Amino acid sequence: KNGSPVAENFRVEEVNLPDNICEGQVKARTLYLSVDPYMRCRMNEDTGSDYITPWQLSQVTDGGGIGIIEESKHKNFTKGDFVTSFYWPWQTKVILDGNILEKVDPKLVDGHLSYFLGAIGMPGLTSLIGIQEKGHITAGSNQTMVVSGAAGACGSLAGQIGHLLGCSRVVGICGTHEKCLFLTSELGFDAAVNYKKGNVGEQLRELCPAGVDVYFDNVGGDISDTVISQMNQNSHIILCGQISQYNKDVPYPPPLPPAVEAIQKERNITRERFLVLNYKDKFESGILQLSQWFREEKLKIKETVINGLENMGAAFQSMMTGGNTGKQIVCISEDTS
Ligand code: NAP
Repeated sequence: KNGSPVAENFRVEEVNLPDNICEGQVKARTLYLSVDPYMRCRMNEDTGSDYITPWQLSQVTDGGGIGIIEESKHKNFTKGDFVTSFYWPWQTKVILDGNILEKVDPKLVDGHLSYFLGAIGMPGLTSLIGIQEKGHITAGSNQTMVVSGAAGACGSLAGQIGHLLGCSRVVGICGTHEKCLFLTSELGFDAAVNYKKGNVGEQLRELCPAGVDVYFDNVGGDISDTVISQMNQNSHIILCGQISQYNKDVPYPPPLPPAVEAIQKERNITRERFLVLNYKDKFESGILQLSQWFREEKLKIKETVINGLENMGAAFQSMMTGGNTGKQIVCISEDTS
């Protein structure tokens, strides 16, 4: 419950898959796998949420994945289809119940299939729907948005979407100078703060002279306390995640310190729990919107790719400690033939 995940928490084993698949099943080859912060909760005996189950010791771990069908005994799929699931085992080849799979259309991502695990998938939907549902952005009303975890999968999209939906100023907070430069020079953020250097509060005060109207919170903890203390009356927090607290035994969402909670109440700042999985009815239109922005070059997509199933643990550890810019992806195979 307390402690940082390391690559050595995971091991690789070689086993043979059965030769034959049953009615309703498919055999698929894995192309890309995702490592995500919520997986840290799956390493606890109790995940703290009813929508995710704990990984079991010495059992195969699973998560977001995408692959190509090699053989199908399910009516919805044929050989060569590209499919994805939130419950893809960390295996190079898999036999799956077809009912947990969804077919994806490579045209939506210009052939970059891994984007279905990132910008044109769960993290992209999280940023888009989170902002639409909890951000209260009104184009033309001069709003300033701050994004923490800004150079990561959700954050890098949230800032861009903030602009696209009408925020006049978007400021990112992230963990290195290079990430700050990436946000401002490549993604159009107006400014960025490296939270590991200098005083975040002072820098934010300079960069957000009219205060903060919308806060897309990926990290929680001290960074969020600092941002919240600079938020305006009737402003809004999009409570996306609290990664700075995931290696600690605390409830989710962690309560704010009393002084910060007092500010939140006095200024009528909304801070409602947000979970993308509660908005499945908006996924289809959300994917189309994200894909359209991507293909119109309005949404820039960045990934950090590590190769090989044996490096899943290392990729997870790296993402949890800021090794990624954009979405952390593990490439298992690039062969889509
Ligand atoms: P990500 O941002 O791509 O990767 C995690 C990043 O967190 C790292 O790159 C690191 O960047 C930063 N980080 C790690 N420890 C930190 C700390 N102690 N303080 C500040 N920053 C820290 O991950 P993601 O997939 O986009 O997820 C971002 C957040 O969204 C997570 O909190 C996740 O749980 C949440 N999420 C929520 C939903 C939902 O439905 N609500 C869905 C998806 C994701 P730096 O170099 O900047 O430190």
